[in-house]
Amino acid sequence: MSKELYLKITRPQNVCVKCGAAINQEGRHPSAIFSSSTPSAAGSEEDESVLRQDFCPDCWLEVVGTDYYSFWLAKRERPKTRKIQNRKERNITMLAYFDYMYQQNDAVNAQHLFFLAHLLMKFSVFKWVRTEPAVTAEGRERVVFRNVVTDDYITIESVTMDEERLVTIKREIDEFLARAVIEVQP
Ligand SMILES: [Zn+2]
Repeated sequence: MSKELYLKITRPQNVCVKCGAAINQEGRHPSAIFSSSTPSAAGSEEDESVLRQDFCPDCWLEVVGTDYYSFWLAKRERPKTRKIQNRKERNITMLAYFDYMYQQNDAVNAQHLFFLAHLLMKFSVFKWVRTEPAVTAEGRERVVFRNVVTDDYITIESVTMDEERLVTIKREIDEFLARAVIEVQP
């Protein structure tokens, strides 16, 4: 997930902004507010949290002393969860799954990412923006999507789906969705 996307997240984040480690379990973790370059007149809660970033203790050590405005130890309680109940929750879950794979930046995930991106497009989470030609003769075309929720641009390699692989990927996604739970806000 890109840094820009994190900046738009207004709630406490579930993973460390630097390394992706889960931090939404019981306990405390460092949180910081970074000074905003576009101060808002209203100063609403949303504006304040736009630049909130949450860290795991290890990554915090690298951030200490940089230009944050304030920091505190966020106290987290183990989130209450339940199964996915509607389309919106399914989309959020699918997007998280996509982001996880995207962040791994592993060529092995190319078919997965390609399929998931098109699925997210079908669910109206992604919009196709353009297809870019391959940079090298051996390279692949790249497809640029826009996340309509965050306005982030996502570029993935265009791949030819292998039939067998596709069946596996679909099954994995179904199993993932069947197991997935979402956090219930108190
Ligand atoms: Zn970390």
